[in-house]
Amino acid sequence: MSSQHAIPSYLHPTETGPWGVYLEQIDRVTPYLGNLSRWVETLKRPKRILVVDVPIERDDGTIAHFEGYRVQHNTSRGPGKGGVRFHQDVTLSEVMALSAWMTIKNSAVNVPYGGAKGGIRVDPKTLSRGELMRMTRRYTSEIGIIIGPDKDIPAPDVNTNEQTMAWMMDTYSMNEGRTSTGVVTGKPISLGGSLGRREATGRGVFVVGCEAAKKRGMNIEGAKVAVQGFGNVGGIAGRLFAEAGAKVVAVQDHGGTIFHSNGLDVPKLLDHVARHGSVAGFEGIEATMAPEDFWKVDCDIMIPAALEQQITVRNADQIRAKIILEGANGPTTPEADDILRDKGVLVVPDVIANAGGVTVSYFEWVQDFSSYFWTEEEINQRLTRIMTEAFSSVWQVSEEKNTSLRTAAFVIACTRVLQAREVRGLYP
Ligand code: NAD
Repeated sequence: MSSQHAIPSYLHPTETGPWGVYLEQIDRVTPYLGNLSRWVETLKRPKRILVVDVPIERDDGTIAHFEGYRVQHNTSRGPGKGGVRFHQDVTLSEVMALSAWMTIKNSAVNVPYGGAKGGIRVDPKTLSRGELMRMTRRYTSEIGIIIGPDKDIPAPDVNTNEQTMAWMMDTYSMNEGRTSTGVVTGKPISLGGSLGRREATGRGVFVVGCEAAKKRGMNIEGAKVAVQGFGNVGGIAGRLFAEAGAKVVAVQDHGGTIFHSNGLDVPKLLDHVARHGSVAGFEGIEATMAPEDFWKVDCDIMIPAALEQQITVRNADQIRAKIILEGANGPTTPEADDILRDKGVLVVPDVIANAGGVTVSYFEWVQDFSSYFWTEEEINQRLTRIMTEAFSSVWQVSEEKNTSLRTAAFVIACTRVLQAREVRGLYP
């Protein structure tokens, strides 16, 4: 390898985690990029990585330190944009991959953002509310040097929510000496949040799911759906499918896996999860299942909506679904993608399937700038239009180039990012 392409140590090429998965996805798309492929290296390294120490005083007077990250993968098309995750397994590699997928996603649905992501390596369930607030505020203050409404705009992700965003917005505003609502999205409505944002990702999963089902000649009414992860994304998607007449036959979360062949009562299950924090202990079930058996469930649509690298060579062959809707980011490894393709399973990739969240985040940001707020009906209509159009473009490219939907989405997204890079030119 020539010296000008020497790989920084933190981007080690033998990386097998999410960043390795992302790099392989880029390698797969490169042959389709024509002359733009000379810029592809720019997608293989994040623009900016910030690692921060987040110390807090715990309620018992002891001091705890947490490791926090904010990665801006690419800003060729606009400011960085992507969520913040609080999870005990967060690593720099994971945040890098998630930031890169944001670049691809934002470009695939054509919202004017680059890609970024953040996280803290912490199990938030072990913190009191006060500790959580202090940790969120200190983290925000530490990354405050690189975020901002026109620089990089965080949003919720796993284990973060409207309250987290309110604390982040307040901390940033205090440091700036002015109220800055546009610095984060996914805020409470009272702070400039958008109607429809809370449901947007799950709704987007549902919208593209309906489009994919049409292509496969599948009726949503009566279709059997299995959902992994019953939080913001999986819970809402599951509810919308159930409302459309589908049967949600299996749900798995961190606490357990439950099954009912006639379909679980989704509103009751959501209520149970809201009260107990997990699907475990829900009464209206036929059976509980071992975690690995979830992937063998007899279903038409499977929605991985928890964490990355869940569908792998270990279970891809067992999957019986005809359509997989990637609610989570990076749930399928490239090897598993190949197995699913050979089996004829239609995988609607994360960068399209879960782009509803960032699409309504974009609406929120636009509304904050103009201080003029739209109705929920307008928001859902615009969301449905963008998601349907994005799915249709990806479908068309996949037919033209005879590729998977993932490669097609990457072709569209990488082309837009690299065209922007090329026309901007390199500084200086
Ligand atoms: P959440 O915290 O609301 O829910 C996460 C769910 O995953 C919970 O039900 C949890 O129990 C489950 N889970 C955690 N570990 C698990 C495990 N080992 N096995 C099975 N289930 C497990 O998070 P969310 O916002 O719904 O995000 C879920 C996924 O969707 C993530 O990959 C996230 O990056 C992605 N995503 C979220 C948004 C958004 O707007 N929230 C947007 C795009 C993508």
